[in-house]
Amino acid sequence: MTQRKLFRPSAAPGKELCSKYEPIISTSPNAQRGEVVHKEICEIVPPMFEASKHTQVQPPEKYLGYALKVLKDSGLTNIGGVEENVTLYDKDNEFVTEGTMDMWGIGRGLHIYDWKSGNERDYSAQVTLYALAKIQQLNHPVAILHEVFVDQERTYVTEITRQMAEERIFAIVDRVRDPKSPHIINRFCDYCDLRITCPAWRHEQQKFAAELPACPESITLAQRLEQVKQDPLAEASFVAKWKSMQKYVKNSGIEAHCLEAMKAGEPRPGLKLRLSSSGTQYVAVERNGE
Ligand code: SF4
Repeated sequence: MTQRKLFRPSAAPGKELCSKYEPIISTSPNAQRGEVVHKEICEIVPPMFEASKHTQVQPPEKYLGYALKVLKDSGLTNIGGVEENVTLYDKDNEFVTEGTMDMWGIGRGLHIYDWKSGNERDYSAQVTLYALAKIQQLNHPVAILHEVFVDQERTYVTEITRQMAEERIFAIVDRVRDPKSPHIINRFCDYCDLRITCPAWRHEQQKFAAELPACPESITLAQRLEQVKQDPLAEASFVAKWKSMQKYVKNSGIEAHCLEAMKAGEPRPGLKLRLSSSGTQYVAVERNGE
């Protein structure tokens, strides 16, 4: 029987900052490359690691060489599992979630490896969750976590006890289960599926609207902006909110919706379709006259 996950392990870093966070499933080229890098590390590095115990090996890609170096430098002696399914239980031994851990092994202790490509972000809650699941399974007191950014060739190593991992992960679990847990704006909002309907962001919009030219009719937008420029605090506040609103509007998908409508033959006054450079398809909308 498939049990219902409270959340996916990859959502743990966002859930730690806002328990309501729901990650957008990305199909971007970066996400696709991430899958390829991941697959290659998991398929190619373990046999290279075994071979490197007896002979010199030549990794075919730089990031594979870095992954191999991380394994060797960490003092790993045996790889215990690759892309292994692990299950997390709560303090009452109830099922919480399950997921695929990149790699674990035994050296001077229990080692957990999480391979990441692309931009560096703090994924430590995810690797801590995997580590706790493995600690529970093996009944181990401590684990050494390796959060490896192969593109930057940077690795964050943390040693955690079972108690430390439980405190961090069970706090996330408790907040996710608590229906009264608040929406908290954080750096993962740009990757959250709920951003358009999120009450915390609705509140931000209202605050932004209050800062905008809620000005007397006698004053124009341009004049109001000139006034804002004269007040450093007002200017800082305006620019910060304006930047988050730009992202908010972009994430709302309104431009893509407009493009699809116009491609389907529904005119939008003042706008026209822009052709791709090859002239074979419409790729954007732009203002008439541009
Ligand atoms: S958009 Fe809302 S629900 Fe999503 S992470 Fe941000 S505050 Fe939380």
